[in-house]
Amino acid sequence: MKGLYIHIPFCRQKCKYCDFISFSGKEIMADKYIDALQKEALKYEGEKVDTIFIGGGTPSILSPKQILKITDMCFNVFDVNSDYEFTVEVNPGTINDEKAEAMLKGGINRISVGVQSFNDEELKIIGRIHDSKTAYNTVCHLKNMGFENISIDLMTALPNQTMKSLKNNLETAISLPLSHISAYSLIIEDGTVLKQEYLRGELNIPDEDDDREMYEYTVKYLKEKGFMQYEISNFAKEGKECKHNIKYWTGEKYVGLGVAAHSYDGDCRYYNTSDIDKYISGSKREVIKLTESDKIAEFMITGLRMNIGISKYDFKQRFGCDIESVFGDKLSKFIKLGLISFDGERYSLTDRGINVSNGILCEFV
Ligand code: SF4
Repeated sequence: MKGLYIHIPFCRQKCKYCDFISFSGKEIMADKYIDALQKEALKYEGEKVDTIFIGGGTPSILSPKQILKITDMCFNVFDVNSDYEFTVEVNPGTINDEKAEAMLKGGINRISVGVQSFNDEELKIIGRIHDSKTAYNTVCHLKNMGFENISIDLMTALPNQTMKSLKNNLETAISLPLSHISAYSLIIEDGTVLKQEYLRGELNIPDEDDDREMYEYTVKYLKEKGFMQYEISNFAKEGKECKHNIKYWTGEKYVGLGVAAHSYDGDCRYYNTSDIDKYISGSKREVIKLTESDKIAEFMITGLRMNIGISKYDFKQRFGCDIESVFGDKLSKFIKLGLISFDGERYSLTDRGINVSNGILCEFV
């Protein structure tokens, strides 16, 4: 079954590090945008899906009525499996009881809260609208309202972040009723406010060694606390891995609705326009047909991000040849270096391999 992604591109204010397609001050367009989403969804009427993810942007900026319009659309247009996972991203400072009730009523059963840090100075430097207390209370409150499956996003290697503040962030996180934690290192992207500040020498960014130390500490600490790493940046209690994101990492098909969303049907990727006005007026999407080598490279790169790694059997089923006939030399080299392990059926990165994953993954392109 496919995954369904719906992009909500509105944010209260643009965070300084953000290069996602999201706009501040355009929420006024939300009703028209939702109409356009409905039009696009109808192209997939009857499609079977078992995971739905409303991401952004800030989906929790929408009104309860708008939230219900989108959740109703999902169930009315798509054939949603009874055992579905339905996630929505929520940002602290943009959610209230009415919105949370609409989410529950609309069938949402998983919440992903964009916390990023529990340190007020760190939050301020990256331009988030919330403080740590709001983030903490948001998670507790959502749990009290009835959400059982709550994830948070954290960021590491933030400006001025120290091991002490990272440890405090992680300790605070595990004191909350969470089933899943995503922890990404900050990347200073071109075109962001943070990049300008960085180029002006205004930021004290942890260096590569500190970044690595923070990452290793995060993996070890979360494991001790029962959050098993299942992907380079994702940690979950048993059985609480994000089924939707696993579809991306295992090359499954998905439908993406909304501005800048993309879809994958096993052969082609379809890219929607990043221009919200053009999206609302129904502009055509761009189609890119993947070659066999594109598909193989994607399968390797995304599959190796997961701790479970890549199945030799799956590779043969998908591509009709042995993985060793394509990547034998590279796999042997990384096994000898202790960076990839092989258990007779699956190839996966070792702990040392995860530490240098970027370099390894590049070799499979
Ligand atoms: S809330 Fe998320 S999508 Fe919106 S500006 Fe901040 S990082 Fe970007």
